[in-house]
Amino acid sequence: MAILVTGGAGYIGSVVVRDLIRDGHSPVVLDNLVYGHRESLPDGVPFFEGNVGDPELIGRIAAEHDIEACMHFSAYAYVGESVEQPQRYFHNNVIETLRLLDALIVNNIKKFVFSSTCATFGEPQYTPIDERHPQNPTNPYGWTKFMIERVLESYDKAYDLKFVALRYFNACGATDDCGEDHDPETHLIPLVLFAAQGRIPHVSIFGDDYPTPDGTAIRDYIHVSDLSNAHLLALDHLNSDKPSECINLGNGNGYSVMEVIEAARKVTGLPIEAKMAPRRAGDPSKLIGDASKAKSVLGWQPRIPELERIIESAWKWHKNNPSGYSN
Ligand code: UDP
Repeated sequence: MAILVTGGAGYIGSVVVRDLIRDGHSPVVLDNLVYGHRESLPDGVPFFEGNVGDPELIGRIAAEHDIEACMHFSAYAYVGESVEQPQRYFHNNVIETLRLLDALIVNNIKKFVFSSTCATFGEPQYTPIDERHPQNPTNPYGWTKFMIERVLESYDKAYDLKFVALRYFNACGATDDCGEDHDPETHLIPLVLFAAQGRIPHVSIFGDDYPTPDGTAIRDYIHVSDLSNAHLLALDHLNSDKPSECINLGNGNGYSVMEVIEAARKVTGLPIEAKMAPRRAGDPSKLIGDASKAKSVLGWQPRIPELERIIESAWKWHKNNPSGYSN
């Protein structure tokens, strides 16, 4: 049986595609290549270029491949951009996903693994954030994912669509084959490594007046391989006819922007210049995940939880791919 992977040419999707193949599954990738890279996919994987909101295309893929489940990665995911251009986010992340879900139901594909986010929680009332924490996003990106979580709950009840929504904390790191190559790049770890490589003159620290020990924002950084592994476990969960779940995926450790830069200086052995800048709109001060439910429900365990090892893996990829996938 095949697994439809939307956004399979993206950063996380491309890692999951390889892990699916390794575990004997047959991924079929749908990606519009707006942000994805065709080069990030291994040879021989069935690939369709198009939009997830195209029901005819979903019907054709379902007819050509025996699709048993869908993993839905494709989405716009720039927090700052979502504040400035909310239309783009609600149209792409909500409306296109609704069209995808409807097409899946028509084609009787009723197992769905959804890329959700810790941004659905907003400013935390306590940390680490567990699944009982109230959800009140501080930016449109978070709202788009929040909305789809609610849609999934309703579709489960009405149409028996079973889902696992995985709420990622900060995805980062690289495997030997796949790494982070966004255009534009806005994420902290790749930008810190760009500064180490001299691709940018310095990294900006967005805000040093947060209520945290060093004043910079705290995030829970999780290795992309660990995220990928959770998707395979989520698929096993759905294949065992277990109930739908929303599950947080973090390491339970928070690191400030300053700590990330310091760790990158240590890993690279290079003096990475950092300059203070104003806060970025929509950024909460501190996001740390409680992974107890991922452990108890999915049997998930992070294998690369240490920040320095995560940065080491990203550094290796950036050194081997100094222009990303366009090498
Ligand atoms: N950040 C920063 N400088 C940058 C990029 C990011 O200070 O050039 C901060 C950002 O404000 C946030 C943290 O680093 O507090 C992680 O940001 P990233 O964009 O990597 O992930 P997000 O938390 O937005 O998903």
